[in-house]
Amino acid sequence: MNTKSTPEGQSTVDGLLNEMVALSRRFGEDPEFTRGGGGNISVKADGILYIKPSGTSLSTLTPQSVIALDVRPLLELLDASPERPVGGGTDLVMQVAIEARVGVRDDRRPSVETLFHALLPERFILHTHPTTVNAVACATHGAEIAERLFGSSVLWVRYTDPGLPLARAIRDARRSHEERTGKAAPPAIFLQNHGLIVAADSTAEIDDISARWSPRSRPTWRSCRLSRGVTSKGSRPSRPGPRWARSVRRCGRCSRRGAGSRSCRSTTRRSRSRWRVRRWVGNSPSSAR
Ligand SMILES: [Zn+2]
Repeated sequence: MNTKSTPEGQSTVDGLLNEMVALSRRFGEDPEFTRGGGGNISVKADGILYIKPSGTSLSTLTPQSVIALDVRPLLELLDASPERPVGGGTDLVMQVAIEARVGVRDDRRPSVETLFHALLPERFILHTHPTTVNAVACATHGAEIAERLFGSSVLWVRYTDPGLPLARAIRDARRSHEERTGKAAPPAIFLQNHGLIVAADSTAEIDDISARWSPRSRPTWRSCRLSRGVTSKGSRPSRPGPRWARSVRRCGRCSRRGAGSRSCRSTTRRSRSRWRVRRWVGNSPSSAR
């Protein structure tokens, strides 16, 4: 598992793995971020990617269960010419990932999303499916809503197939953000119809950035009545219908001129009669009904 031969190097990698496992369990046990075995996590050190195996949950990860992969062949696949057959889909990614394994080789398989973990330059990568983020990521006009609410602090990535297509879409979105703004791509990525990726060089930063998208983050969600239009039954928002989408759009306008306008209230009241809503913004005076 360790990539350095010196005792100092060993302790560095072991320390990083312990940090990653603690982070994984924290988010894996939080139902607002993780349901079932969903999500994945990784840490990079000395050209090796340590990633959660496929088919296991974040909440039960151990340092011994982590899979180690050589980052180089993963990046080569990502940067291969478009002529290289992408048609291999997830099978091609899995084939390259299995060949990239270092250390013990057994029948465990790395996540099919291994490529974006290798691509992102930050040390720690956490991918989850928070209910609040997916309220935006799964909404009609989600990109527009994310832009209005969070501006350039979020990178929006359009829905695409998992594996190589998704990793390339993330790479392209990061490049275009950097060209457009002249700034580094933000550490939070909203995947359309999917979930959230947070990338940072320390687990403390991952905690801080992720906390912003927690339903417990009142500053984030109080700014808009978006929370009023989100259903709470089940692990993710139920299929949004036209009325739900209208209420979300109304909230987008509302956030620009101040929450709690009459039109917004009437829209959300109608929505509540039809959709089960959750009070993510709590009982603050402006939001209590
Ligand atoms: Zn996912």
